[in-house]
Amino acid sequence: MRSDKRYFVFITLLTLFYGLIFVAADFVGVPCSGMADYIQLFKYWLLIETAVFGLLSLLSLNKWTFAIAFPLITTACSVMTYYRYTVKAVLTPQVIDLVVVNDMRTSLHAVSWQLILTIIASIALSCFIVRYRWHKIKVSAWYVWLTLSLILIYYTNTRGHLSTELEQRMPYSLYYSVKEYMQTKKYVERERPMFSGKATTKADSLTVVLIIGESLRADHLQLNGYSRPTTPYMQREKNVVSLPNVSTDFSLTHLSIPHILTRSDEANPDRAYSERSFVSLLRQAGFHTAWLANQESVDTYAYFMKECDTLAYVNSSKSMYLFDSWLDGDILPIYEKAIKAENQFIILHTVGSHWFYNSHYDDRFKRYTPTADSRVINGNSRQQMINSYDNTILYSDWFWHQVITPLRSKNAIVLYISDHGESLGEEGYYTHGIDRPEQHSVAAWVWYSDKYRQTYPSKIKVLQENASKKLKTYFMFHTILDAADVDWHGKDEKMSILK
Ligand SMILES: [Zn+2]
Repeated sequence: MRSDKRYFVFITLLTLFYGLIFVAADFVGVPCSGMADYIQLFKYWLLIETAVFGLLSLLSLNKWTFAIAFPLITTACSVMTYYRYTVKAVLTPQVIDLVVVNDMRTSLHAVSWQLILTIIASIALSCFIVRYRWHKIKVSAWYVWLTLSLILIYYTNTRGHLSTELEQRMPYSLYYSVKEYMQTKKYVERERPMFSGKATTKADSLTVVLIIGESLRADHLQLNGYSRPTTPYMQREKNVVSLPNVSTDFSLTHLSIPHILTRSDEANPDRAYSERSFVSLLRQAGFHTAWLANQESVDTYAYFMKECDTLAYVNSSKSMYLFDSWLDGDILPIYEKAIKAENQFIILHTVGSHWFYNSHYDDRFKRYTPTADSRVINGNSRQQMINSYDNTILYSDWFWHQVITPLRSKNAIVLYISDHGESLGEEGYYTHGIDRPEQHSVAAWVWYSDKYRQTYPSKIKVLQENASKKLKTYFMFHTILDAADVDWHGKDEKMSILK
């Protein structure tokens, strides 16, 4: 019994060590206002600590398991903590993808002596702890500890949205990121058949850009008559047509996007999960295709990202569960480099107006105040939520302007569509993910260059006639083919807003 008491103290001290060094690192910089926020954060921390206790207790039961697993996990956490503090990065499936597939240097800066020092210190400390465990710790009631560990691990990992906090944070993020990476990989590797028939185009030096927006509802755009001037740049564009009556059947990113990019419609929703996207047809017609992602890749649409000739991640080490600055402007340097002379198609997957709003605009766009200052939604007033949300639109408006500017003198068209809408206090609801009208409403618009209008005057005329129609996001597949002037036997011209 005395030995088990020592075991308990040993695990508790290790858990505290993890809690103060690794778990706490993921909470640094989380915006808080007032006691309620701190209590909430403490609750999350405590949940993660409970899970860590279960894990460490399970690993320590056998001295061999502990000798192998503990140094590995501790060193991995040390490396992640190092990146967390130096470049505000966290481990996500995209980071693993970058490390495995791509050039690691593109996202995480080169290995430094500080990092090497961190690794050496971590291994040394782990070995010391392993040695102590080996010689000093004996467990008599091992079956009790085993049962307790399993219960704690099961309990903490099945708490619904609380468990999401756990999945995104050390040390469990190690397991969950690898798991999600493997799942996505499996999904992407399951080949979907190429469409029958050949896609061709007569277009010459045409640039088509599709911006996938995030959580932007139509009625908060000045373009659509909103009382606040949220889109001053777009307001000045003469070649922009807003589509104020577009809706989606979904209210979450990963559910909505596959139905925007594929031939899915109300009658054939399964096509979102069995068919390729329009990217394959554009490629066949000779377009160079690129996906520039400022959002994580998720298994439901990862396939379409890999369909493109090039795929680049921006801010790949960000997580929605952390609250660091995360700006769409970071896409611009690679976007400007990606613009080519030949026919090309570029998708920009933006983070737009996702909660936590303040993370997605910089100080220049903090026009509406007071802004939301708490990560806990209920810690803010409705007006604070709306102010911060509208500031994200001001920022997006500036971003769209930057996307359009290098295309002015080219033969080019830009289409924007949000993945879903957002609740802003209607009947007490906020953000998205449930079935509410304002979450199904999506902002959408089309911009074209003078050269594009001169080349395709009839498309522009039809676009203007179709602008105020009630549309579902399924129109995008056929519209993109039309926008790129692609001929293909499966194109449904009734579904295109340019035909
Ligand atoms: Zn979304």
